[in-house]
Amino acid sequence: MIPTQTACFECYMKIVPQQTTYPLCTLASTPRLPEHCIEWAHVLEWPRLYPDTKFDADSPEHVQTMYQLSLKRAEEYGIEGVTKSKTLGVVKNIIPAIASTNAIISAACCNEAFKFVTCCNPLLDDSMYYNGEAGVLASSDPYRKVDDCEVCGNLPREFEIEESLTLIQFVELVKQEFSLESPNFFTGEGDIYNFKKSDEFKEKENLLVTKLLPFEMDYCKLQVVVVDPSRKSSLKLNLKLK
Ligand SMILES: [Zn+2]
Repeated sequence: MIPTQTACFECYMKIVPQQTTYPLCTLASTPRLPEHCIEWAHVLEWPRLYPDTKFDADSPEHVQTMYQLSLKRAEEYGIEGVTKSKTLGVVKNIIPAIASTNAIISAACCNEAFKFVTCCNPLLDDSMYYNGEAGVLASSDPYRKVDDCEVCGNLPREFEIEESLTLIQFVELVKQEFSLESPNFFTGEGDIYNFKKSDEFKEKENLLVTKLLPFEMDYCKLQVVVVDPSRKSSLKLNLKLK
């Protein structure tokens, strides 16, 4: 990964399957699927029976107990399909046959490392899709950056201000421009303004931005970072005089 040039971890999050969760009321009173029975045993029954023992999905005894609890629950409601491997799959949120999947991924990584050190072949660009269901198929695709990625798509932006702008005018301007709720403004050297604690900044409100922050040749030497509850990531502003 090369920051801002190739896809970052956050860019990949869109293709990561969402973790499945079930409403507690379904688990507690109206189970319909084997998964509901297993989650009931996992989330509700285990902590009730063994309040001092944290469930360990890597312990065969724990998994066996969890399976028995789930099976009993399923029998009470006439639900079929609770098996030990399904129990493990639900409590660990995994797909089965993880050992062979890991082996394939390790082999692919070793292959890439070998190519990297020997330059014997071009490197993978950059995602590999392996399908071993009915034969073996491994295709590769580059995974491109997500343009509006919250992390790597969030580059600093230039923000032009008038020389006569006071601190309170500046923060209101930014608040409106980006539809913010209660932003906090700061630089690497400390807070500039915080809407949640506006009283603390009363004295500075009418000072000029150009006096509060160091400017040189029309540019502010410090980057202004703005965080707000309405945005997942921070806003980075490079101030410039009009
Ligand atoms: Zn990204």
